Amino acid sequence: MTAVIEVSCINCDMCVPECPNEAISMGPLHYQVDPARCTECIGFYEKPTCIEVCPIDCIELIDPS
Ligand code: SF4
Ligand code: SF4
Repeated sequence: MTAVIEVSCINCDMCVPECPNEAISMGPLHYQVDPARCTECIGFYEKPTCIEVCPIDCIELIDPS
């Protein structure tokens, strides 16, 4: 599973400093998650912290396979 940021992201920056793996960076239009770096926050938090902090709930966990 990896976190995926939807196009409705408002680029508020809330999630960026919270990611323990520095997996979130600015893409062409909005922030995006590098699936190679996202570990669902396992070992750091009980739940994906980017999803917890996003004010508009635009991040989902998706199976990339
Ligand atoms: S789920 Fe955790 S590791 Fe993955 S992008 Fe969000 S904050 Fe980073
Ligand atoms: S917290 Fe949500 S709206 Fe804000 S930059 Fe991250 S994904 Fe986008």
